[in-house]
Amino acid sequence: GFKCGIVGLPNVGKSTLFNALTETAAAQAANYPFCTIEPNVGQVAVPDPRLDRLAEIAGSAKKIETQLAFVDIAGLVRGASRGEGLGNQFLANIREVDAIVHVLRCFEDGDITHVEGRVDPIADAETVETELMLADLESLEKRVPNLVKRGQQGDKDAKAAAAILSRVLDLLRDGKPARLVDCQDEEERRHFDMAQLLTSKPVLYVCNVDEANAADGNALSARVFAKAAAEGAQAVVVSAAIEAEIATLEPGDRASFLADLGLEETGLARVIRAGYALLDLITFFTCGPKEARAWTVHKGARAPQAAGVIHSDFERGFIRAETIAYDDYVTTGGEAGAREAGKLRQEGKDYVVQDGDVMLFRFNV
Ligand code: GDP
Repeated sequence: GFKCGIVGLPNVGKSTLFNALTETAAAQAANYPFCTIEPNVGQVAVPDPRLDRLAEIAGSAKKIETQLAFVDIAGLVRGASRGEGLGNQFLANIREVDAIVHVLRCFEDGDITHVEGRVDPIADAETVETELMLADLESLEKRVPNLVKRGQQGDKDAKAAAAILSRVLDLLRDGKPARLVDCQDEEERRHFDMAQLLTSKPVLYVCNVDEANAADGNALSARVFAKAAAEGAQAVVVSAAIEAEIATLEPGDRASFLADLGLEETGLARVIRAGYALLDLITFFTCGPKEARAWTVHKGARAPQAAGVIHSDFERGFIRAETIAYDDYVTTGGEAGAREAGKLRQEGKDYVVQDGDVMLFRFNV
C-alpha cells in the first residue's frame, strides 16, 4: 500500500492530527477496524461517495473502502541530519514513505511552546527541509565521486547514475530539494528513484490553524500556500483541534457540526484527497452482490497491474478486464444495463485504467 509520513517540528499538532485521522477513519470504516501495525502507523479508509452509489445499485452486502497509510514520524529537531535527537531513526522512517505530509503550525497560542520561540510556518518549513537536504547532501557527497570514478572506468550504469546525481548534488548545494531536478529520460528517472533521496518525495503542507480559521485559513496559511505554489507542492488548511473533536462525535452528528463551522467535509477527506493527488493515485472498483470495493493504483497503470493489486494470480493469468466507466454504470443502472447499452468494454493487457472504472477480471489459474 501507499504510505504518507507525517513530519514537522515538535508541538505543531502532528500527534493531534494523526490521532484524529486514524480515529475518524476507524469509526467510518466498519470493515476495517483500526489496525495498528505499529503504534505510529494508521490505515485510513479513503472516503469516496462513488463507492456508496455503486453498492446501492448493485445491492452489495458490504462496502470496502480503499486505504492510505499514515505514519507519525516524530523526532525532528534542528540537527537531525547530524544524528541529534532521534535524528537517524527519523531519517530512516522518512526513507520508507511515498510522500511527506508536512504539518506547519499556523495557530497562535501563548500556552503552547514553540520549539524555536516564534510562530513562523515558513521558517519552520525551511528548518525541516534543511535537515532533509543536509542528509541528502551528505549521502550524495559520498556516493557521486565513487560513481564518477566507476563511470570513467567504463561502467555505463555508474556513468548514467553519476550524470543525474551530480545535477542533484548541484541543486542541493544551492539549497534546493532533489525533487526539482529534471530527469532527461527513463534511465535517469530510474537512477534518481533508486537513490531514495529524502527531498525527492512529494510534499503536502498541512497548515494547522485555529478553529476560527478552519474554513478560510489565515495570514500564516496564505504564506504557506504561496510557498507551495512556487515549489509545485500541495497545501491544505486543517484545524487539528476540530479534527480531534470530530473524532469524538457519532458519525451521524458530524455533518451538522461541520456545517456550523462553514466546512463541507472533514480535514481527513481534504488531506486524503491531496495525498491522492500528490502520489498520482486513482481509484478503480470491483462491484457485485457480495461486495463493492475500491482499490488504488498509480495513474497510468495497465489492466494487469490493477488485477495484481487484488491478487498476484489475477495478474499472472490475466486474460481481459470487463470494464464499465463509473458514469456509465450509474446511468445504465448497473452491470446488466451497461452490457445491454454496449457500455461494457472488453479491455486487454495494454488498457490504461481510468479513475472510476468498474472492473471484472477474467484470468487463467
Ligand atoms: P506534535 O508535537 O507536533 O505532535 O504536537 P501535538 O499534536 O502534541 O500538539 C502540541 C500541543 O498543541 C497540544 O497541546 C495540542 O493540544 C495543541 N494544538 C494542536 N493543534 C492546535 C490548534 O489548532 N490550536 C491550538 N490552540 N492548539 C493546538
